[in-house]
Amino acid sequence: MAGIRVKPELKQHMKDIAKVLSIDEKLLKAADKTAENDELFCPGFAVSGQSEGPPLETLSGLSRYIRHCERILSADQWVKEEKVYGSQSVYEEIEKITDVFPFVTCRKIGSSVLGKPLYELKIGADTAERKVHVNASFHANEWITTSVALKWCKEYCAALCENKTVFGHSALDIFSLTSLSFVPLVNPDGVDLVLYGCEDLSEKNEFLNRLNEHRPDFREWKANINGVDLNKHFPSNWDIEQRRKPKAPSYRDFPGTAPLTEPEAQAMHRLITEQPPDRLIALHTQGEEIYWGYEGCEPEQSSRMIREFEAISGNRYQGVKTIDSHAGFRDWFIQQYGKEGYTIELGKGKNPLPFHQFADIYQATEGILWRSLVF
Ligand SMILES: [Zn+2]
Repeated sequence: MAGIRVKPELKQHMKDIAKVLSIDEKLLKAADKTAENDELFCPGFAVSGQSEGPPLETLSGLSRYIRHCERILSADQWVKEEKVYGSQSVYEEIEKITDVFPFVTCRKIGSSVLGKPLYELKIGADTAERKVHVNASFHANEWITTSVALKWCKEYCAALCENKTVFGHSALDIFSLTSLSFVPLVNPDGVDLVLYGCEDLSEKNEFLNRLNEHRPDFREWKANINGVDLNKHFPSNWDIEQRRKPKAPSYRDFPGTAPLTEPEAQAMHRLITEQPPDRLIALHTQGEEIYWGYEGCEPEQSSRMIREFEAISGNRYQGVKTIDSHAGFRDWFIQQYGKEGYTIELGKGKNPLPFHQFADIYQATEGILWRSLVF
């Protein structure tokens, strides 16, 4: 984390420092929770660690120093960036997000089959009373959901630093009231397989090509690298899916030999069990639909919220109460906790959706994401 070296006494003036940085004091304090005594984190600034010279002692010294640091605003190219992410670029992006916006915390919640880390980002005040969980790329060939999720995350962070209002809600009010738990890449092995193929996985090469029915590329691949569909792998009527879906590993739809044998699903199950959110959003593609019910276990509130989601998307996205599908992450969550859970099927077409649809998808769905943080 890039912080500015300061005399610890200077940090007794956080209110004045917040003014110098033109950011909100509570955001500054949240960012500096993990800073050392002699270091100051400056949210929204690209601070390249100051290696020479004495630590800053005064507000005017800080003011002079910060003028030379780049401020990252909503209009910044990096914030607005639209790009395809494999696992490596997700990790680099997370590093930059937590560096520029140090009020975002990151922790590893598990590893994939191939040992790639699964990360959860958290944004929100310690005192926030509500929790929302958002995840992307449960399904490998739905990787565009990770692009949507990360762009939205950066826009939220920038809006906080600028004290902006988004879709009629103050970003800082959202920060105070709602804690966001965010897993941008649930299935890194699968996403990398779809994007880059299996040449690097010599020992798995034959297995993967057989499961993929020897097609020339892996664009149809939804499962994790063991050929288990992570979203048919949770303990909510799992046996129904087991009876009617493939009985062996496959590029899609195999629910596993039992629920929760796969490390990616175990990590997500543990995350939710440890800290159940009040509302859960799972990003998938495609269909421009939002599934919101499961076996009548969903709360009353979901039917009201879905009308709002529809309206905020300009009625492009339509709520669907139930479908004949079980053992999904969201199905399990609703059944287990009786709380709001939504699967948003982004975009329309054939998976993987082509990236040129990104801007259109983002424009139609960012309002839903913002609204999901408000209670
Ligand atoms: Zn999906």
